[in-house]
Amino acid sequence: MFVDQVKIYVKGGDGGNGMVAFRREKYVPKGGPAGGDGGKGADVIFEVEEGLRTLMDFRYKRHFKAPRGEHGMSKNQHGRNAKDMIVKVPPGTVVTDAETMEVIADLTEHGQRAVIAHGGRGGRGNTRFATPANPAPELSEHGEPGIEKEVVLELKLLADVGLVGFPSVGKSTLLSVVSAAKPKIADYHFTTIAPNLGMVETEDGRSFVMADLPGLIEGAHSGVGLGHQFLRHIERTRVIVHVIDMAATEGRDPYEDYKTINNELKEYNLRLTERPQIIVANKMDMPDAEENLATFKEQLEEDYPVFPISALTRQGLRDLLFAVADKIEETPEFPLVHEEETDINRVLYKHEADQKEFVITRDPDGSFVVSGDAVERLFKMTDFSRDESVRRFARQLRGMGVDDALRERGIQSGDTVKLLDYEFEFLD
Ligand code: GDP
Ligand code: MG
Repeated sequence: MFVDQVKIYVKGGDGGNGMVAFRREKYVPKGGPAGGDGGKGADVIFEVEEGLRTLMDFRYKRHFKAPRGEHGMSKNQHGRNAKDMIVKVPPGTVVTDAETMEVIADLTEHGQRAVIAHGGRGGRGNTRFATPANPAPELSEHGEPGIEKEVVLELKLLADVGLVGFPSVGKSTLLSVVSAAKPKIADYHFTTIAPNLGMVETEDGRSFVMADLPGLIEGAHSGVGLGHQFLRHIERTRVIVHVIDMAATEGRDPYEDYKTINNELKEYNLRLTERPQIIVANKMDMPDAEENLATFKEQLEEDYPVFPISALTRQGLRDLLFAVADKIEETPEFPLVHEEETDINRVLYKHEADQKEFVITRDPDGSFVVSGDAVERLFKMTDFSRDESVRRFARQLRGMGVDDALRERGIQSGDTVKLLDYEFEFLD
């Protein structure tokens, strides 16, 4: 399976800071509190864009930092929320958290969206901290930091066109000459074990994904050798390209082959025979091919177009690719028959990692290091230029149990506590 992969960094916008302000009233040194809240930081949102086919753009731009919310203002004006950052991805993009390796999103349908990194909420202004006991608080919060993480994007190409046909008719060869895929080619049966996919570009600039499905053998659908993996691919293909060995190598009968394969397609019960077929008469460079083709056309009952080609000498490819591209354009997608069995559209149960509120470790110099998502977020939301904010921070740490935990670890008054890039003195 052709999978493109890239690792990128995403960060939701920080929330805007809350404001400390007071109403200005004549003869009153401090009127009531009037500091507005900060606005929410932008989310980083991925959205499926049908027209995109590769993850190429991400090779050049790997950092996505969403804008922060506007800060709160005086007169109780709230900061504006930042506009979400929309990042377009191709259909078939699977997003995984690089650290936990958990799948965050599986994006398949045009327009489908997923929030990849949440923006932080706005910090509260001092108006929100007013209480009867403290009617004029000099206290506000900084905005909550946006979530940041590294994610891996994987692109799983889904075939628009499926190559079917007996083993050794030239499917792999055809795919290799019309696309960048490099499938194994051999005159050995069952050469292609897994479906090989390749991006095909026509001369007039259209592109589609072609899959070289495993050589169909009788009874393949009952699970002999080829499994569901194969069926999933063929399910999704809108156009079937039926490759036939017109040279009748190894004493084959082209028309018998054609019938056998079509019967198998019918037996899959996957609406495969409803899809339009394009017949490729391959190996036309061989001596008996012309005669075999004439006979084949006489026997053919269906109204399918036949394209004589030679994958080896590359004759007839141009017209074939145009016809395939046209057919894809005029054929709507076929709804999946066994939706619940496919892993492409599987339901995702997002696992919320239970984050430790804080962790205490010791540095070689003896200082106590406090870390953890919750405590770091609290820290970043504190305005250390105001005593009241600092006191609130200390209270919150105590409430989380940080002080007790430090004492348990043997901290003494006057010892140093580190949090992110800052150092505090522990006073008991
Ligand atoms: P697959 O099993 O359908 O994928 O068949 P392959 O692509 O592996 O080809 C089987 C054999 O047929 C290989 O030896 C190819 O070189 C040969 N072959 C494929 N296309 C042509 C063709 O157009 N002309 C001739 N003469 N041989 C071909
Ligand atoms: Mg092959």
